[in-house]
Amino acid sequence: KIFAYSIRKDEEPYLKEWAAAHPEVTVDYTADLLTPETAKQAAGADGVVVYQQLDYTPETLRALADEGITKMSLRNVGVDNIDMATAKELGFEITNVPVYSPNAIAEHAAIQTARILRQTKVLDRKIESGDLRWAPTIGREVRDQTIGVIGTGHIGQVYMQIMEGFGAKVIAYDVFHDPKLEEAGYYVDSLDDIYQQADVISLHVPALKNTIKMINDESIAKMKDDAVLVNVSRGALVDTDAVVRALDSGKLFGFVMDTYENEVGIFNADWRGKEFPDARLKDLIDRPNVLVTPHTAFYTTHAVRNMVVKAFDNNLALVNGETPDTPVKVG
Ligand code: NAD
Repeated sequence: KIFAYSIRKDEEPYLKEWAAAHPEVTVDYTADLLTPETAKQAAGADGVVVYQQLDYTPETLRALADEGITKMSLRNVGVDNIDMATAKELGFEITNVPVYSPNAIAEHAAIQTARILRQTKVLDRKIESGDLRWAPTIGREVRDQTIGVIGTGHIGQVYMQIMEGFGAKVIAYDVFHDPKLEEAGYYVDSLDDIYQQADVISLHVPALKNTIKMINDESIAKMKDDAVLVNVSRGALVDTDAVVRALDSGKLFGFVMDTYENEVGIFNADWRGKEFPDARLKDLIDRPNVLVTPHTAFYTTHAVRNMVVKAFDNNLALVNGETPDTPVKVG
């Protein structure tokens, strides 16, 4: 028996599809988050499938273990909100879904890149107001741009392919060189090469000590005038105040952001009729050359299906004492 927490409406069809394909497993679920209070709902289950921003606290993990459940499969990547010391002490086995659809995120980045270059937000606003004149809203063709990709992992590589499909020249920087890309000659030697040569700079690295605020006043100063910055990766990679200064001065032509430094508690919430909690973010949303999305790059039917199906597959493997595809190191 597998019990799933915080199942959203858009996940239900995939959960039902998985359950139908596994008649030997009893699948039950709730929309509730996993907390010390809701742990009882999983009573009798062999494993749980979960996904939440809320912390998996020592109390929560203990409450699950009290029900005899120590096999937990996340439908997402991040494990920073799990109290690993307690999980280890209680003998938890945990899995996540590190790759569910690189295309979802890469495609979003590519679409937004093209929209910035063709000034579609400006055009939409003009058209809605009844102004159907062409000038001065002239577009830049993607094929005329040099696209600088920072991070050539799962998502960065798909973004590179899409941008090449548009006919753009693509250059890349990564601390690890993928042999295929190396052979094809994509890599430049340094970040400075990217900043100096690229018209569009797209970030596809994780937030680590040496990548946090990598985009700051100093790196922006090295960029070409009228550069476009794309961040669908992690808000922490960018010093947002520095980007605002570069938008004000006209140094940056545009900014794409699907992630934001202070997004937790702000994104994926309805602020209509309420006071907006972040004046800087509101200012960015209002700008014609900034495209803000609330961490929705991943949010496609394909990705959601994979998150559900892969998490259930992993959990069933744990329950059956088999090796799951993507175990998480506990401790
Ligand atoms: P990945 O692990 O496949 O690739 C990351 C790449 O970054 C690797 O090739 C790695 O070598 C490189 N890298 C690490 N440190 C570096 C550094 N200091 N300089 C240059 N390169 C460095 O990851 P991925 O699946 O492609 O994900 C990339 C990013 O996208 C992650 O930060 C992830 O959090 C983010 N993401 C965003 C969304 C969204 O909805 N917006 C969804 C999923 C992932």
